[in-house]
Amino acid sequence: MSSISTASLAAAILRKEVLDLHAYHVPDSSGYIKLDAMENPYDLPPELRGEIAAAVAAAAINRYPDPGAASLKDKIREVTNLPEGMDVLLGNGSDELIQLLAMAANKPGAVLLSVEPSFVMYRMIAAFTGMRYVGIPLAEDFSLDLPATLAAIRRERPALIFLSYPNNPTGNLFSAEAVVQIIQASPGLVVVDEAYYAFAADSFIPHLARYPNLLVMRTFSKLGMAGLRLGFLAGSSVWLGHLEKLRLPYNVGVLPQLVAERLLMHHQLLLQQAEQIKRDRGKLYRQLGQIAALEVYPSEANFLLFRIAKATEIFNGLKQRGVLIKKLDGGHPMLRDCLRVTVGTPEENERFMIALKESIHEEK
Ligand code: PMP
Repeated sequence: MSSISTASLAAAILRKEVLDLHAYHVPDSSGYIKLDAMENPYDLPPELRGEIAAAVAAAAINRYPDPGAASLKDKIREVTNLPEGMDVLLGNGSDELIQLLAMAANKPGAVLLSVEPSFVMYRMIAAFTGMRYVGIPLAEDFSLDLPATLAAIRRERPALIFLSYPNNPTGNLFSAEAVVQIIQASPGLVVVDEAYYAFAADSFIPHLARYPNLLVMRTFSKLGMAGLRLGFLAGSSVWLGHLEKLRLPYNVGVLPQLVAERLLMHHQLLLQQAEQIKRDRGKLYRQLGQIAALEVYPSEANFLLFRIAKATEIFNGLKQRGVLIKKLDGGHPMLRDCLRVTVGTPEENERFMIALKESIHEEK
């Protein structure tokens, strides 16, 4: 035994899919203006912080959390206006829910389908749960290629389809009619991932009861709770009841439950912050649109995608000036020369614009 190296032992024991994967890379952001991860940039008002501190001080952290999280779920039902008869399943972030869905559906040969470019975890989770992944390229303007998607659905008969609505990293909201056609044509489950719902003009939550194969997934990460790790699936209790069997009993801890519930009591405040971010997104979009060297794409999310020559150099130039955004160039071929910036506070956006103009000037 001792003659075998740890590396060769791991290579012999672990699944090939796991050995082949690269871990999701999160760069060190300390000291930067952080515009890389679609977080809400605003602090909570001091009174609310005090309220949370008092609630946390009184929390029974010696006890396991309420596995049903009944009170938090009620609050979620209320703030989301969940249609009558629909249920909620909580996840430790919505990432965990993607994984749960894949674990439930990965019969031998089962397909997970999404569009590309989209959220990379769909592909990664398919890989590590052993599902076959099929990615259908979006049209050049990042809208859905409906004929190609419908053809792939007929050909592959996917057990699971994920559609990010609005889409990450492109920012656009797909046509609702096209999404409906996909739902209606799909023999499997369609999950509309509304991670960016707070910044978008449309949602599939009101239509949940209409389609038996539809679930809507949301996260509170973009609304100011990224650190809590809380996402949910909304839909029929038939689906959620089966998924519930796979959910680890205490996946959402005492503190996230308690703090999220308290924050959702101030849902209006979070929505006001989202409204501010939407206004600032408009301003940033116009400012980026005035720079001849780049092309900026319309967004219904809290970030903007833009294409610029020498994207890597520009990204590094921004970093040298203390601004961290996301480099997408080098990933999907349709994202060549693309960068993504999260909408920050007005001051952060201004710092970003100054750093961007300087970086462009430097590369001329
Ligand atoms: N879906 C989409 C489309 C996302 O962009 C993200 C985060 N970037 C997630 C899901 C996961 O969010 P979380 O795990 O923080 O809930």
